[in-house]
Amino acid sequence: MSDDELVLRWPHQKSLSPTSLKTYSQCAYRIRLQYVDEIPRPDIFVPFFAIGNATHSALGTIAQQMKLGVPTIGEKEIRMLCSFHMPMHHYPSEEAWEAEVQKVLRWVDTGKRYLQRLQVEEWLLIEHWEAREIPLLPTKARYKLGAKPDLVVRRRDEEGEPLIHIIDYKTGQVREEPDVPVIQRFALRPLLQEWTGDASAANVRFTWIWLDENYPRDVDVSVEHCNHAWPEIMAQMESLVSEAIFAPTPGWYCRYCPYYQNYCTEEIPPQLD
Ligand code: SF4
Repeated sequence: MSDDELVLRWPHQKSLSPTSLKTYSQCAYRIRLQYVDEIPRPDIFVPFFAIGNATHSALGTIAQQMKLGVPTIGEKEIRMLCSFHMPMHHYPSEEAWEAEVQKVLRWVDTGKRYLQRLQVEEWLLIEHWEAREIPLLPTKARYKLGAKPDLVVRRRDEEGEPLIHIIDYKTGQVREEPDVPVIQRFALRPLLQEWTGDASAANVRFTWIWLDENYPRDVDVSVEHCNHAWPEIMAQMESLVSEAIFAPTPGWYCRYCPYYQNYCTEEIPPQLD
């Protein structure tokens, strides 16, 4: 197979991301429907995503307001965001909706208190997509790999050393993807150079904040850490852009797939349902 044929498979004008790689690792057929056939995502309400979107939206607004030094939104405004992202008619009762809103209020409060403790010197990025070109195959296609950190700040670490801190809010039980911190450091490299003067030596930390458990888990995203993880990420990207079969591989994640039981008629295996 020539490189030119490979280019036709993954639409290389679309950037690769942790999300596309995770989707590919679960089901190549979904990648085909979404990115190759470009079937518009059916508008299906998924409560799990809705509550996450409401929380991220509130915490993004709060970070913007903390950056500006103005008062942050309170319960009334967070409830308005909930009404937008989680319309009540999707829930079996007002009580069921209110229970979900209470979760958002608690998660936002946890995230906000975490941000208030950070002693931020500079708010660098808030929900900002960054991507860089990446040489994947010996081909003329120009691939990009990118990521959208929830928040990036400049502050000091426990030893008083300058630190670039990337923060990612976790609103569900979905497991941590170890490639996310590595891809984020990769995508941010030009900005790390700008912010620190030496991207390779930059002290970078990534934190998943598990909002339900109020548990922040830190990853030291050192160059050594990235170098160790990189070959596997490269292999996954090369596999994705050269994919030809796009076989469906149904699993528990079908419940969150917008193509489930409309464009895709696969069944979730009974032991996973
Ligand atoms: S419903 Fe399941 S098997 Fe079908 S495309 Fe989505 S994830 Fe793949």
